Amino acid sequence: MLENERPAFVSVSNLSKHYRTGLWRKQSVQAVNGISFDIAKGEAMGLVGESGCGKSTVARLLTKLTTATGGSVSVDGRDVLRLGSAAEELSKKRLVQLVFQDPVAALDPRMTLGQSLAAPLARHGIRGREERSARVRRILTEVGLEPSFADKLPGQCSGGQLQRAVIARALLLNPQFLVCDEPTSALDASLRTLVLNLLVTLRRDFNLTLLMISHDLNVVRFLCDKIAVMYLGEIVEYSPTENLFAFPKHPYTRGLIAASCLGRSEGRVATDDSVKGEPPSPLNPPQGCYFHPRCIHATEICRHEAPKPVSTSSGGLVRCHHWKVLSYEKLR
Ligand code: ADP
Ligand code: MG
Repeated sequence: MLENERPAFVSVSNLSKHYRTGLWRKQSVQAVNGISFDIAKGEAMGLVGESGCGKSTVARLLTKLTTATGGSVSVDGRDVLRLGSAAEELSKKRLVQLVFQDPVAALDPRMTLGQSLAAPLARHGIRGREERSARVRRILTEVGLEPSFADKLPGQCSGGQLQRAVIARALLLNPQFLVCDEPTSALDASLRTLVLNLLVTLRRDFNLTLLMISHDLNVVRFLCDKIAVMYLGEIVEYSPTENLFAFPKHPYTRGLIAASCLGRSEGRVATDDSVKGEPPSPLNPPQGCYFHPRCIHATEICRHEAPKPVSTSSGGLVRCHHWKVLSYEKLR
């Protein structure tokens, strides 16, 4: 937990997911490796990292689309991973909803948007057709679509309109916690801004608690109060947003900032901080610090000893042997 944080509404502790793969399922992919974070009611947290670092697995774990290997998740005091009965499952769905990356894949092409949106309402006991239709039209207006979109098929809509419909569907059951997995990465730049602005408005109007997953630091900076940076299944840095950009501590965070236009234009980090090469395979993670093969600051200890997460004086956590030296190093 960050210093001076409000009480947790979402609390994730030591969450892990190891997939068994390969011949005879003998190999283990450590997709998520003991991550912990808290999010207060109404707060937005960003989760960033390169493709394959485990972000979508975190989204799937939080919404129970996949079972955890270990750890716990509680939302509003309820143990999400261990809910059992059908009634508990339904009430959990009202608590947590997920917005996927690809709006085209998330909607049935043969159903009108109205039918797709009304289906979860029927499953949650809203019996009257009129009532369902009225709710669908109301929520479409909330996300900036004409109510007449209820009669359209997905093929008749643009990507931005479909993503807004998918967000509307997630909000229909009044969830308190919304997990968005790269909700704008399938959209072009202008639609991306539109959807991000929509999320800002909805967050305020619905008092949503938000986990925003993205490979793009600019997206999470725009929307989030704090940011967790993930590398090969672990959180390597966790900090309030402005602090993360003003004083990036982990070399990987500095690399991500250097790679985004923001970093260069603000002169926070040097371009040679940018991270080169591919991340190692989670099937066979390196010894010591997982980041050391790509780190220009790595020394002997990094090759042998995994760094433990350390609380920083500015609030937050970092997992690097040399973070103190690096963060006080004069920014070039
Ligand atoms: P991200 O969303 O950050 O791109 P993912 O969570 O999708 O990352 O994947 C993390 C790692 O887990 C990757 O190495 C991926 O190949 C692996 N992985 C994801 N889903 C499965 C699965 N069902 N079976 C085996 N490995 C998986
Ligand atoms: Mg993903």
